[in-house]
Amino acid sequence: MATVIDGKQVAASVIETVKAATAALDKQSGVQTGLAVIIVGDDPASHAYVNSKSKMAKECGFKSVQHTLPIETTQEELAALVASLNADDAIHGILVQLPLPRHLNSEAIIQSILPEKDVDGLHVVNAGKLAVGDLRTGLVSCTPAGAMVFVRRTHGEDLSGLNAVVVGRSNLFGKPMAQLLLNANATVTIAHSRTKDLPSVCRNADILVAAVGRPEMVKADWVKRGATVIDVGINRIAAPEKGEGKTRLVGDVAFAEAAEVADVITPVPGGVGPMTIAMLMANTVIAAHRAAGQTPPK
Ligand code: NDP
Repeated sequence: MATVIDGKQVAASVIETVKAATAALDKQSGVQTGLAVIIVGDDPASHAYVNSKSKMAKECGFKSVQHTLPIETTQEELAALVASLNADDAIHGILVQLPLPRHLNSEAIIQSILPEKDVDGLHVVNAGKLAVGDLRTGLVSCTPAGAMVFVRRTHGEDLSGLNAVVVGRSNLFGKPMAQLLLNANATVTIAHSRTKDLPSVCRNADILVAAVGRPEMVKADWVKRGATVIDVGINRIAAPEKGEGKTRLVGDVAFAEAAEVADVITPVPGGVGPMTIAMLMANTVIAAHRAAGQTPPK
């Protein structure tokens, strides 16, 4: 039976590091780390995410500012808010909660955030820095950065000689995850919906990362014995065993059977999920250090 990574515990240790770095920056330079979170509209799930981000930012010792805008907010109004936060020296990170209402152009808004304040790591400048291996001045997308913490804790900093397969090629996760693994010297394959014989591609992986959005797609016989399996998928499925109309969350990996073959595996929920907010906080304190001319913590 595989070792199951406790994402909540790892995320808590990242948060402890962030708290210490925030306090140290304040002491050394008199700079309080500032995070601005923008939410437009009244989608309950987005509000729940934003509230937990704002709460965590306060726990880390940040100055946390939440901008809650009505659904009828125009592109120009939202762009003006981002511009004012870009110009505000007390704000080191700007997060725009996605998805935005359909009448707004999210890509234009994300690309209008100053790259050095883009703590979600979605700006093309940050994606480009990751692609050229510049982890010193760029900010990395939070979920792949979190998944990479698990990989490093399992295999160390140098993945030389290991085969990694990332299933999924989104800009949000698959591509940056593959770049991070490549930067750490893994031999990386990116698989997607057009990949031929996906099970045999996956069976080659010492590190298998699934980010597809298909419940329990990766079966035990796709997993190499002794592999590390990182499950990024979050899928809500019917759970009639819990009662009529009830649901439960599952990942992209058939957890119970894959855990019989893998050496290390992440659960859903409680694996990669908790790391995303933790890495957002880490990116924000990194951005604050850079703005103050200080070396950020590792
Ligand atoms: P996208 O929908 O943007 O990308 C999904 C990828 O999976 C695409 O590259 C697609 O291929 C590929 N894919 C779809 N079907 C298959 C298939 N049958 N075989 C092989 N590949 C397939 O999703 P995201 O990357 O944004 O997210 C993926 C999952 O991760 C989702 O469940 C999401 O909820 C979760 N997630 C979790 C986060 C967290 O924990 N905080 C954060 C981000 C995502 P193609 O490009 O060819 O269409």
